[in-house]
Amino acid sequence: MMISFFENFFELQKGIHQMLFSWVPFSVGDLLYIILGAFLLYYAITLFRKERRNNSLIRILMIINIFYFIYQVFWGMLYFQTPIIKKLASQKEPDVEKAKRLAITYLEKCKTTRQSVKEDGNGVFIMTNLTSIQKEILSQQAKLPSYISGKKAPQILDIKPSLFKNIMSFTGILGYYNPFTAEAQYNSELPHTFIPFTTAHESSHQLGFAREQEANFVGYLIGIHSNNLELRYSTEFFTLKSLLRFIVEEDPEFVENILHQYSPAMKRDRAYEKSFVLSHQGWLDDFFGFTNNLFLKSNQQEGSVTYSYFIDLLLNYENT
Ligand SMILES: [Zn+2]
Repeated sequence: MMISFFENFFELQKGIHQMLFSWVPFSVGDLLYIILGAFLLYYAITLFRKERRNNSLIRILMIINIFYFIYQVFWGMLYFQTPIIKKLASQKEPDVEKAKRLAITYLEKCKTTRQSVKEDGNGVFIMTNLTSIQKEILSQQAKLPSYISGKKAPQILDIKPSLFKNIMSFTGILGYYNPFTAEAQYNSELPHTFIPFTTAHESSHQLGFAREQEANFVGYLIGIHSNNLELRYSTEFFTLKSLLRFIVEEDPEFVENILHQYSPAMKRDRAYEKSFVLSHQGWLDDFFGFTNNLFLKSNQQEGSVTYSYFIDLLLNYENT
């Protein structure tokens, strides 16, 4: 009862925010974060001056409290929705053999789709029309199986390049959803193999799926049936990589063998992704990697096998 109230409230809030902000060509939410950051920095500096200390401390606590409250009401409550896994017919533990069969299927899919997309002078995958990818994502949102998503899919384009793309490249963050303005942001500096799927992922948050791995799964459902080959390749490539990351814990030789079987074009895409990650490694990445690990560990039961919730959803959804 309570959750459906917040789900409806989310739709209302999103409708108003998209009316206000979707037509603005840049991310209003990013601008909001910059202004907020400037205020916090200003009050933090004045903390060092004795006569203003109390006043500044109250201001800082007030800002944090207000934003935390708005965040919870606009977004945080959506974490209490029924998990997608409970809506699937099968709810088994991920099975490595099944993952291997799927990895072979997705390798073949990737190889085929990759033949029909464009590449740059270095033979690396490029997108030709991001707007048509975004429109395709919106139209696929409306076709999601109703037992998984009963959400409304308003066909409003509200996906924007992040103003923080330079910093983002060094943090390993591909995109994010802004709960205060209902905008979806992606890092436009990323290798193109990442961008269409990242956009589908962020659009799934925008649709109302808060959990990270559920956004991956809904993004997967959006991309995998698409007639837009650039979106489909990006999604198939993401799915294959996720499967391999799961399998490598149990059978590294199998993964090595699959990597060998990548088509030359896929190998070039993989090499480009790797070189991008390597050239953007730094202290920020270490910091975020560290906090991320800390966060994941605190949410995981001790001693359990490490697989992502996305793999759990994928293997239970696919009947191979
Ligand atoms: Zn996300």
